[in-house]
Amino acid sequence: MKPKSQLEHAIVTVSDSLPAITKKQHQLAFSKCFSDCAVLSRNTIFCLECGHSWKDLNRHQNPKVTCPNCSRKLQLTDRYANGLKETDYYQIVTTEQDFQIVRMVCVSKTMKKLQKPSYFAHEVMQMFIMSDGSMRYMSKNVMGLSMYIDQWVISSDLSLKPNYDTPRLRLTPSFVQPKLKVLPIIKRNGFNGKFHGIAPQILLCELLNDNVAETLLKCNQIDLLYYHIRNNPIKKDGKIWGALKICIRNNYIVTDAKLWVDYLELLEYYWKDLKSAKYVCPIDLRKAHDKLMSRKQKEIMKMTFEENKKQIGKNQKHYLKAKQHFFGLIFSEKNISISVIESVKEFLEEGCYHNHCVFTNEYYKKQNSLILSAKVDGIPTETIQLSLENFEVLQSRGRGNKASKHNKQILSIMKRNLHQVQNRMKAA
Ligand SMILES: [Zn+2]
Repeated sequence: MKPKSQLEHAIVTVSDSLPAITKKQHQLAFSKCFSDCAVLSRNTIFCLECGHSWKDLNRHQNPKVTCPNCSRKLQLTDRYANGLKETDYYQIVTTEQDFQIVRMVCVSKTMKKLQKPSYFAHEVMQMFIMSDGSMRYMSKNVMGLSMYIDQWVISSDLSLKPNYDTPRLRLTPSFVQPKLKVLPIIKRNGFNGKFHGIAPQILLCELLNDNVAETLLKCNQIDLLYYHIRNNPIKKDGKIWGALKICIRNNYIVTDAKLWVDYLELLEYYWKDLKSAKYVCPIDLRKAHDKLMSRKQKEIMKMTFEENKKQIGKNQKHYLKAKQHFFGLIFSEKNISISVIESVKEFLEEGCYHNHCVFTNEYYKKQNSLILSAKVDGIPTETIQLSLENFEVLQSRGRGNKASKHNKQILSIMKRNLHQVQNRMKAA
């Protein structure tokens, strides 16, 4: 778009006056954004950095190798297909007049066997942040119908864009050039040169227009700052803010914001005093959270059981008839034990414990499935659904319907013991 307002004219003029990005800046970014790679094919390793290749007949599983020619430590890649192209971003954070400016550079590295890599860099965006935290930006054009948000038209020029939000404005660079220049007001608002993994343009805007972010940064509550910036705005009249003030007063740093907010909700559920450091600043957050969580789960379980007692009894009869011949099956190895679930009440317990749908979706009624519970050191870890038709594990899920870190072990124990299930079936 053509600049119309005074501000827009000023932005375009400042943009024209910005210094050209130097080769040195690009080169530093190349070394920071990309890792050194190698590819293995038919016992030959190809260094994608210097073009050297060598035979390696007795390789171990180690995904890192050292090139005998250039001595670089190389990461073996499995994404190579007739070549490998990586794309990334870096930024230059600078100021000009009253503008806080973030320049975004797209870099790419193209690698091919037996060749040295080639690099490319082009500036694709310039974000102009005003002292009130508002932002306008210039950018290259993107392909109109691309499914990617950042398919840049390389030959286009940077031009002023309308004042719309786009996901491109939230791209996080892998590297920010040192020697940052920031407006004095941003320093005053708590910025100390670190972005903590937050996209600089986002953090700088937040520090100018949002004093919650400012407080969080100044108090070093970085995880809460992430939480706040990533679509969970902490309001100044809400319970989180109230509890946060207690934390600040007690020098308590919240290291896991999501867990802590979850925990506050549990505290509230049990009418605990959210102004008391005793509750709000637990020494072991995970432990405090889990304790209340399991208390609540047990209560909900009991309530659900009482409400559905009659129906559960009825379903239990059917379940017993259908699956009784599998009862008593237990597969144990080391600290893991897997057993067939023997009652509908247990389905309820598994469902509540893991917060998945094994009870609500009535898995006990599934004719061609057998449901088992895997426990590690006696603690429910995953619920397993085994097909009684082809004896495949259809799913093995733990808390929140996700695989636990013991998933692989659990599956391999299942595999080794399938014959026991089959024997019981034959016997029935
Ligand atoms: Zn090499």
